Amino acid sequence: MEKSPQKYWLETYGCQMNFAESNALEIDLLHHGYTPAEYPEEATVVILNTCSVRKTAESRIWGRLGYFKHIKEQHSVKIVLTGCMAERLIDQELSKQGVDFIIGTAGKNHIISYLTGQEKTITTYEFQQAHHKEGELRSFVPIMNGCNNFCSYCIVPHVRGREVSRDPLEIYDEIAQLEEKGVREITLLGQNVNSYRYQRGESVVEFLDLLEQIASKVQSVAWIRFLSAHPKDLSPELGDLMSRYPAICRHLHLPVQHGSNRILQAMNRKYTREHYLSLVEGLRNSVPDITFSTDLLIGFPGEREEDLDLTLDLMEQVSCSDAFTYYFNPREGTRAVDLPEQLSEELKLQRLKQVIETQRRISREEKKRRIDGIETVLVEAPTKKDHNELLARSEHDDMVILPAEDHVHIGGMYQVRLTGLQGNTFTGEVVQCGKLSVLSQR
Ligand code: SF4
Repeated sequence: MEKSPQKYWLETYGCQMNFAESNALEIDLLHHGYTPAEYPEEATVVILNTCSVRKTAESRIWGRLGYFKHIKEQHSVKIVLTGCMAERLIDQELSKQGVDFIIGTAGKNHIISYLTGQEKTITTYEFQQAHHKEGELRSFVPIMNGCNNFCSYCIVPHVRGREVSRDPLEIYDEIAQLEEKGVREITLLGQNVNSYRYQRGESVVEFLDLLEQIASKVQSVAWIRFLSAHPKDLSPELGDLMSRYPAICRHLHLPVQHGSNRILQAMNRKYTREHYLSLVEGLRNSVPDITFSTDLLIGFPGEREEDLDLTLDLMEQVSCSDAFTYYFNPREGTRAVDLPEQLSEELKLQRLKQVIETQRRISREEKKRRIDGIETVLVEAPTKKDHNELLARSEHDDMVILPAEDHVHIGGMYQVRLTGLQGNTFTGEVVQCGKLSVLSQR
């Protein structure tokens, strides 16, 4: 009798690293003869690549597990829970919830071995070789995993473990393969990319060495981004590298989290607002048109009105083009859960609202300043609404709508004049046609 085909349904939650790892897992599943299911009821295996960073993320996943358990009652399906939430629950018995395998972050890249009954005991994180989604112009490239920082509110070091850096030769190999596939933009990924450090014998490669090597090697990959940078570990020499290598995007996501030194200390961030502001100033001196985005965590235990004012003041000084804002949500297993002076939900929400409104105004002002300027964009796709328009991404990580013209192609890089704003999205027109080479972008 012919064996029925194995079909997978994969859901991914959380950060870019999870999405990169899910891409690698799909490559592995396809390689082993699995095909994607069109809808969950058709799957023979359901995989949830989970996130544990906030309670709300976990609640959503519990809800999805209930749904898949219901499917399991109708027909045979294996349910795999992997990722950070799975790591947190690794010692729990979840068979009543329908879960067949709970696979933590170290075993995540070996899911196939569990599905084929050849499971291995994996205790250290291993990097996959490829993380690209077929046909996409952009790709993630993980360079390190884990975190040693133990910010007092963060679950990541507890679920992803200590920092491990990937062999630079594997990284160069993956990027060379991406170039063959026509990828134009890569994002180097890690929980704290600045801590990248790989030692072989006497030779040590640190983050800026790696970045410079990649920037000097790439040909058809025109843009390099990296996520996440920690202000404590960011070298001021990054500005010099950005100004020397056009392939390194002049946009930096630099999470500040808060503008008050008292709160930064309680968060165990290990830098001050003065240090953060001096990094921004130094980078602006080296790269005058650099743009920034950040993360802001509001309503931390003990936060007072004056701490909020310091945050609002820092936001004005840095003038980020964008910010991911969220309010403090105690995470079981982190130190901040037990801190005194926890704020009420109402107060946290009220302060967050103030921060969001301030950021909206700052983002709008920062974007308006750039109207009429010339920027390089990568054309990504037709817009969903109108096929006479194309959606492009700027070097500064903003979306730009362009008129679809015969000489403008998906995957091409063009210089455009920014003509206006539709909400947060720029409108623009192409002023220089033809594919730009990496070195002639500016
Ligand atoms: S640097 Fe801090 S916030 Fe970032 S992953 Fe590490 S512990 Fe979490």
